[in-house]
Amino acid sequence: MTLAPAQLLPQSQDADTLARIAIIGRGFTGLMTAIALLKAVHRPFHLVMFDPYPKIDGGESIGRPASGLLNSRVRDLSVDPAARDDFRHWLEANDGWRDRDQAVPGNVDHAFVPGEVFSAYAYQRFSEALRERADVMVQVRAESVAAIGRHSRGGLSVLSGEGDQARFDAVFLATGYGLREIAEGNAGPTGAREVQVIGGGVHAVDRALRLLAAGEASHVTLISASGFLPQPHAPSAVGAVSSDRPFPNTLRGAFRHLREAANRAALEGTGWQGIMNDFRLRARELWQGLTPEERRRFKRHVKPIYDSHRNRLPLGHYERLRRAIDSGAITVRKGKIERIATNGVLLSGAGGLQVLPADRTIDCRVRPTDLDSPLFRSLLSAQLARRDELDLGILVDGDGRVFSQTGAFEGLFAMGPLGLGSLPDIDLVPQIVVQAHAAADALGAWLAETASSKAAESRTR
Ligand SMILES: Cc1cc2nc3c(=O)[nH]c(=O)nc-3n(C[C@H](O)[C@H](O)[C@H](O)COP(=O)(O)OP(=O)(O)OC[C@H]3O[C@@H](n4cnc5c(N)ncnc54)[C@H](O)[C@@H]3O)c2cc1C
Repeated sequence: MTLAPAQLLPQSQDADTLARIAIIGRGFTGLMTAIALLKAVHRPFHLVMFDPYPKIDGGESIGRPASGLLNSRVRDLSVDPAARDDFRHWLEANDGWRDRDQAVPGNVDHAFVPGEVFSAYAYQRFSEALRERADVMVQVRAESVAAIGRHSRGGLSVLSGEGDQARFDAVFLATGYGLREIAEGNAGPTGAREVQVIGGGVHAVDRALRLLAAGEASHVTLISASGFLPQPHAPSAVGAVSSDRPFPNTLRGAFRHLREAANRAALEGTGWQGIMNDFRLRARELWQGLTPEERRRFKRHVKPIYDSHRNRLPLGHYERLRRAIDSGAITVRKGKIERIATNGVLLSGAGGLQVLPADRTIDCRVRPTDLDSPLFRSLLSAQLARRDELDLGILVDGDGRVFSQTGAFEGLFAMGPLGLGSLPDIDLVPQIVVQAHAAADALGAWLAETASSKAAESRTR
């Protein structure tokens, strides 16, 4: 799964004549963007992929063995939007999976697979797309990017953490949850008795269950800032279930509609998951119509509930979680972490500040985009990008295009979770796949337009 940079660099191309494209970040979003560019941009180009993390492996959250659980079903994980069953076909053709698959009851489409299996698939599709394009030069640089600005010769200037500066026609930001750490923080003693897991999402619950199953903890305190934990998936995949009533365009109206639809579904014995799936399909349109104040209210009061219903646990995991809570093996605490120390945390909750001692503390929170990092500070101070009003990331359109403060598109894209303030759900695999292909098409059209206006300009000179 690891590729040395030199293995990807064909020597036969003249780099100066090619369109130059950079992808910053080689997590799943960066890899997916590369696949889409290789498939959809039909002219030769030079692609440079920056990330200090030395491997290409399909992403931290997805590829890191410690992350374990992938909570999307096989049928939702194709990296090819035109072939929804591509991942299933890959699994069925894969010997290693077929052996494991004996353990999975039912239809493969409805199954959940470990993150490293999905990562191997995404990486294989990247290698295949690369092999198909002898006219594309790909260079992998194990460096961070410290700043982006405008280049004096036009286009964008990328400054690496090692001080090299290079010009690009287009740049895709795919920095997700920030720089990846190779070590996993406070590992603590093995066989620790009391372990704290910080986070209320799928990753935190999965980690807590695995600690107990492996005997690495005798008791886990799961610390969720909102007090919410993920809800369960339905036993098998359900589609979107829509209501015949008109969909409201205010936050209050939308949630009343959601509550009523879920109550009806409960009475009829159908689950709420189909209702939520329909709501998610409409969320982008609803979001665009909300006022800034409504969006802030959503972030403050509704987002934790929304997240706990969209990022769901496979049913088996959910039942194990309930059993662990009922037996006292897991205790859930609600509160804000003020400080993490070697022997526990300082928690502020309803009862005020409290020290919670532990033998080991594991932080499983998803880090939001750090707009104060040097890279984002450089973009904002050059007025190449604008932050969204919730400070969740930067403003993008549906194709991931970033518009400067004057409203111009200058070749900059922000992909995946970086656009969470503009596009709800853009942190999930199916949405990232669609966005990557839309962005690649938009880039292809923009490069063609730029080239023809340059040609027209030189003819009139
Ligand atoms: C535990 C977990 C499980 C998940 N499971 C699912 C699932 O089942 N289904 C689903 O749809 N979604 C799932 N997701 C969500 C989805 O996988 C992620 O939103 C998506 O993978 C984000 O990937 P990314 O590449 O944008 O970010 P990241 O994985 O954070 O990768 C960002 C990369 O950018 C690099 N980088 C950062 N800053 C710089 C810089 N300045 N210069 C150069 N490089 C930089 C980092 O080193 C890193 O490698 C899961 C997420 C988590 C956390």
